[in-house]
Amino acid sequence: MSKLDRRQFLTCAAAISGAALIPGTLRANDDGRLDLLIRGGKVLDPGQKLQGRYDIGIRWGRIVRVEPTIPLETAKHVIDAGGNLVVPGLVDLHTHVYPLGSALGLPADELTPYTATTTYVSAGDAGANNFGAFRHHVMGATRSRMFAFIHISRIGLAGFPVGEELNIDYLDVDAAAKCLAENSDVALGIKVRISRNVVGDNGLEPLRRALVAAEAAGTGARVMCHIGDAPGNLSTLLDMLRPGDILTHSYSGAGNNVVQNGKLLPAALAAKQRGVIIDVGHGGGSFDYTIAEPAIDQGLMPDTISSDIHALSGNSPGMPYLPWVMSKFLNLGLSIEQVVALATSAPAGVINRVDKLGTLQTGAPADVSVLELIEEPVEFVDTRNNRRSGTRWLKPLHTVRAGVAFGRPYPMPFNYP
Ligand SMILES: [Zn+2]
Repeated sequence: MSKLDRRQFLTCAAAISGAALIPGTLRANDDGRLDLLIRGGKVLDPGQKLQGRYDIGIRWGRIVRVEPTIPLETAKHVIDAGGNLVVPGLVDLHTHVYPLGSALGLPADELTPYTATTTYVSAGDAGANNFGAFRHHVMGATRSRMFAFIHISRIGLAGFPVGEELNIDYLDVDAAAKCLAENSDVALGIKVRISRNVVGDNGLEPLRRALVAAEAAGTGARVMCHIGDAPGNLSTLLDMLRPGDILTHSYSGAGNNVVQNGKLLPAALAAKQRGVIIDVGHGGGSFDYTIAEPAIDQGLMPDTISSDIHALSGNSPGMPYLPWVMSKFLNLGLSIEQVVALATSAPAGVINRVDKLGTLQTGAPADVSVLELIEEPVEFVDTRNNRRSGTRWLKPLHTVRAGVAFGRPYPMPFNYP
């Protein structure tokens, strides 16, 4: 056996890598079939204004074909959508998905059967002190796509139920800005909670610090501001939000609401008109029909529908799972196209990190949700025990993330090839 010296080895290696560049001399062991075909569904993709009977072909984690009929034999695996709605993978802008790290976090992947959500945005579960662990141990170990708002408080929600902004010394602008700048690929901005029981005597100072940190990061970061029994004049708070910032729990009825004495605050409408994003963030205590209905009537439509799902809210009667929250808005008079847009293309646009996220265009990430629109009498309850009856609701059926379905059949290696 001849022994290769270093020079011979390098020559040989160069020959091999050179050969790979000559078409036809080295092939991937791949027959070109689709990895997954989602057939027979009613596609509803508001991001490209596409609606109708289409099959979706997926290969190597991307959507590659959207056609009226794609032959079965061109695919390795098939999901029969059976006439149900096929929509872009749902995007939830307000979730709590830091299990064991924040006091109310849930594991995103385990929520999938109830949420049909493929993209979760952590709304301040972690602050500067514990964001590194969230990024490496949670984001890195989760199939669902994840982004985050970094809490202005160093401890994020680790101290829950003790308010993380009661001690103003936790609200370190430089630490938050540095953490944001270092993680700008996944960190969208700064989260702050403005409720009396969270801020104590600190008033709006946490929001001021959040705004300074977002600016200081230099990444075009947004501030996501939670309201619900905020101290002081709510209009003062609303006036502080910049275009692109996010108001979450917009329809909260916890006190100091956007609707006061039956009238929408002019500052709330002005905020929407200058580009502040009106987010739902239903949660366990933050969605009140008696606020949402007059607010929407008077012009404060939501820009994004989010759930605020967490370990406490998930067990509350309002059941803030994203398709259920979408169903509430469907029965408030929004169209199916609107509610799907507000939970796909709209929040994906706010995230603005992944090309074509929130759509089913060819080339888009193969994140897809299949939902059944069930037409039957249904009753909903908000977080303040107000009930509304409706006529239809959305039920999750299948969730596909990067071309691989959650649940059975199991992904590689168990279903090889
Ligand atoms: Zn929340």
